[in-house]
Amino acid sequence: MISLSDENLSPVVLFFFLTKKYGHEWMSWAPDPLRHTLETDFKTTVAKKNLNRALAMAVLATRDTFFDSWEAFHFLVPALIVGVPSADTMQEHTVGEMMAAVDDALYLRTHLDTLVPVPKFAETVARYVAAHAKNQGVWYLPEPLAFAADYAAGKKYRCKDCGNEGEVLFDDGLCDTCVHRFDTETLGAWRPDPEAMARGLGRNTELFFENPPQGAQARFLLLTRDPAQYTGSQDDVCAAKLVEALDYVNARRMLRDRALKGIS
Ligand SMILES: [Zn+2]
Repeated sequence: MISLSDENLSPVVLFFFLTKKYGHEWMSWAPDPLRHTLETDFKTTVAKKNLNRALAMAVLATRDTFFDSWEAFHFLVPALIVGVPSADTMQEHTVGEMMAAVDDALYLRTHLDTLVPVPKFAETVARYVAAHAKNQGVWYLPEPLAFAADYAAGKKYRCKDCGNEGEVLFDDGLCDTCVHRFDTETLGAWRPDPEAMARGLGRNTELFFENPPQGAQARFLLLTRDPAQYTGSQDDVCAAKLVEALDYVNARRMLRDRALKGIS
């Protein structure tokens, strides 16, 4: 049995608890009727944070906006994790909070009893996650945030013909300058110029990372097993932040799984 007044309730546990009791119906209830029903049926107060978490989970279960739109992601991460949604543009999410929210979302979407596919994260969400991570000195991103790894590491290309360096926006291996991708004539279409393509231009490119992630990745794998190896190097500082973030996610998973057993 869970306590609806417990401010640290797992959003996933709350979701399956409500679904077991009310079926899918509760997901369409407005906040006030939902709270009223819960308080009547369970003869307890419902923490405001849990009401917010429940509403956020209903969005995750019924729509793809968390995966499609950075604005929805921005709003739902604090709703799920701290239980207080905020659209405040200055709000920063820690890597641990973003990992935990994505972990909850993926768990939910893979454990729904309807056969809806788990969406892929859109580029705007990946860039949003990468921007927050980099702001905290984290440029290597493992699962569950690996979908944003290329953006955090600054995946770029260099053209060995014209010398242009640019962000990889289309991932087709072409130099945007040599194929006139952004010329005003084709602006908006962002298609390579067919004539340049016919001449075989723009293919002499190589990929590189602005912030190569390999060092931090290796140190992350090592420090996960043996924290005593910490040296304070730049890679270690990044890796240690990730170890801490994943410790947080793993602790939440343990509490979640234990509580789920109690309601099944
Ligand atoms: Zn070029």
